[in-house]
Amino acid sequence: MLERVPLLDGHNDLAWVIRIDAEARGDVGAYDLRRRRLKGDTDIPRLREGLVGAQFWAAFQPTNAPHPARTALEQIDLIRRMEEAYPDAFLPARRAGDVARARRANKIASFIAVEGGVGLENALGPLRIWRAAGVRLVTLCHNESLDWVDSATDAPRAGGLNAFGRAVVGELNRLGMIVDCAHVSHDAMRRVLDVSQAPIVLSHSNAFALCDHPRNTPDDVLRRLKDNGGLVMATFVPGFISQKLRDWLARSRDRYGKAPLVADPKAALAEQEAQYGPAPRATLEELADHIVYLVETAGIDHVGIGSDFFGGAQPVGLEHVGRFPHLFAELIRRGFSEGALAKLASRNFLRAMRQVEQVGERLRAERGPALGQIEDYPGP
Ligand SMILES: [Zn+2]
Repeated sequence: MLERVPLLDGHNDLAWVIRIDAEARGDVGAYDLRRRRLKGDTDIPRLREGLVGAQFWAAFQPTNAPHPARTALEQIDLIRRMEEAYPDAFLPARRAGDVARARRANKIASFIAVEGGVGLENALGPLRIWRAAGVRLVTLCHNESLDWVDSATDAPRAGGLNAFGRAVVGELNRLGMIVDCAHVSHDAMRRVLDVSQAPIVLSHSNAFALCDHPRNTPDDVLRRLKDNGGLVMATFVPGFISQKLRDWLARSRDRYGKAPLVADPKAALAEQEAQYGPAPRATLEELADHIVYLVETAGIDHVGIGSDFFGGAQPVGLEHVGRFPHLFAELIRRGFSEGALAKLASRNFLRAMRQVEQVGERLRAERGPALGQIEDYPGP
């Protein structure tokens, strides 16, 4: 089936893995995606085995590190260098229609996302430069709240989304870029849905009803995706899949589910395992439970896949990008029709993305660029 319908994955952190790799240190050629990176989870041979047809690569930047605007640009550049280094494997994709073009050329459509609005440094101009550089999706924040949008895993500061946050969403709509509400607080998701004129996505997020990590999506937001036209993209992060693991981890996490900064996280984990027994493992089957629930609640037209492979632990059965077909095999066992699976694989996302492109064209005809900085948008 995945040979007929391209599989689009909404989130992969390979660009950050290449940046922090001790040997490659951001050098795409030195990292060498042509060979199997068995310690990692993503490389070209296994993307091919996994029948991945389109990939959103995250240009991630940590919230509290220095130079966020520069880091965002460096990570966008790294993804573009990946596209240039492997032209036989990756087709630089900037529109929904590029996925079919990539398929015809037997390539993987390569999309750029920015993960973390911190890279805007509270100004609107960078959005247009990101777009010019090829970015088509922006995850509003990461694990920490910003001056204008609240994170799911931090204390709220912006009442969900304040006036400047609404200006960011409005400009993303005008630019035809996808607004991503993975990582934002539940209230921020609701505020974005109130104001966005185009479909939104939650690019790597599961069902809060099955695993109550704040990174997951509550039922009322899932139901609102029908009117909005957007989608939630099921993610493989073990702590967002398994309630058992979430409860086990909660012993050492803050009220927002975030791990404290400790000198040696591995030693801290070993200590917790010595005290409470081994950490429960999340599984592919439990992820399928989330997908069934997301489809029941948001509707079959509003669910996709956003793995979030990031070079770390993954569920049993989904250890690397070569494993996507096993997830679809499990969904076939759950009774999904071929038409339903095609929607999950990419049809839903591409429909939403085409709508985002059309809204952008309309809004650009109606109004000029939004200018200024956060100081120009006072108020809640
Ligand atoms: Zn993320």
